[in-house]
Amino acid sequence: MTIQTPQLPYSLDALEPHISAETLEYHYGKHHKSYVDKLNKLLPGSNFEESSLEQIVKDSEGNLFNNAAQVWNHSFYWNSLSPNGGGSPGGDLGKAITQQYGSFEKFKEEFTRSAKSNFGSGWTWLVKTDSGELAILNTSNAETPLASSSTKALLTVDVWEHAYYIDYRNSRGEYLEAFWALVNWEFAAENFS
Ligand code: MN
Repeated sequence: MTIQTPQLPYSLDALEPHISAETLEYHYGKHHKSYVDKLNKLLPGSNFEESSLEQIVKDSEGNLFNNAAQVWNHSFYWNSLSPNGGGSPGGDLGKAITQQYGSFEKFKEEFTRSAKSNFGSGWTWLVKTDSGELAILNTSNAETPLASSSTKALLTVDVWEHAYYIDYRNSRGEYLEAFWALVNWEFAAENFS
């Protein structure tokens, strides 16, 4: 089976001015694609030739895991953003955030602090734990909540420098402000329900 690069759910310039078309040309068109290409080179002769992407992420390790998880993480990240995103969530997710963090603003501060302090390359996630609580989780490199049976990913931000160096150079903080303007709360709410 060949793993395909998933379609970007919007056009390359759709996230401007927060994230430029040039960033997406590199981040989606080159970085994401290169994880797909490397994964497809590693699959022949492995135990995962007939596996779904999710199964590879859950059961593999080493290079295979790193490339498969990065493919999955990036698809999840593209869906975590929307040209019509931003604001704050309503519904059950909005209620759960307020209940757990006191207010949406406090949640946002805590998530931002976590993403800023995620050392080196990685991802910051909003997840639902198996007890039904929300949690903010930092992972390093390709690590992903998909590999854990006790957490379900709701939302993510890619904090690898390749996600922001074109638009914001080394300023992860400015990139995170852009992220909040783009968050796809509908996607997070679907994952929460
Ligand atoms: Mn990335």
